[in-house]
Amino acid sequence: MINDPENIAKVTIDKDVPYVNTGDYINQIIDLADIYEYDKVPYGMSGIAAIMHEIVEQYEKSKHGTPIGSAGRWDKNQGGILQDENSDFNKDHANAVKVQNKIDNTDRTQGDIIDINSGRKYIMFYIDQTNNKVVGITEQKKGNQFTPQKTEIKTDKDGYYDLGVNRFDDRGNPQFIRARFKLKNGKPIK
Ligand SMILES: [Zn+2]
Repeated sequence: MINDPENIAKVTIDKDVPYVNTGDYINQIIDLADIYEYDKVPYGMSGIAAIMHEIVEQYEKSKHGTPIGSAGRWDKNQGGILQDENSDFNKDHANAVKVQNKIDNTDRTQGDIIDINSGRKYIMFYIDQTNNKVVGITEQKKGNQFTPQKTEIKTDKDGYYDLGVNRFDDRGNPQFIRARFKLKNGKPIK
């Protein structure tokens, strides 16, 4: 998948890492206990795609020459690394999401997400195009352990998903997007 003698992704693989949900971009860690969570539900993100996401992200990070413990460059005027769309993190993460979507045949959306049908909140959702399902991810916190959990999102009685997303637009401004759709052969339709 990656064949590049110039750049090396350095990642520590551990399990039940305090405060880490899946991966830590700055400190270059993968939490294997979190990776296993993705395979407990056979839809949406897979464990292997979660690992590849983290490895691709670290490979991209290595190209900037950013040391372990650093988040790399971002425009501090825009707030944090998430607000600056051109931050090293956001660009590396976007590349990782592309690879992950390719492995799982999914479409990932991230942000503060609310399932308007159930009132439940998620930190991301996946349209699983192979299985024609929508899967939400929450972050469970127990003490210092942060663990992802997957839930299949249900439609209303008419077959519609109804999802609201609070996120940042391309200029770093907060925006709310509401998507009400049905799924047909893994594709959203009105
Ligand atoms: Zn990422």
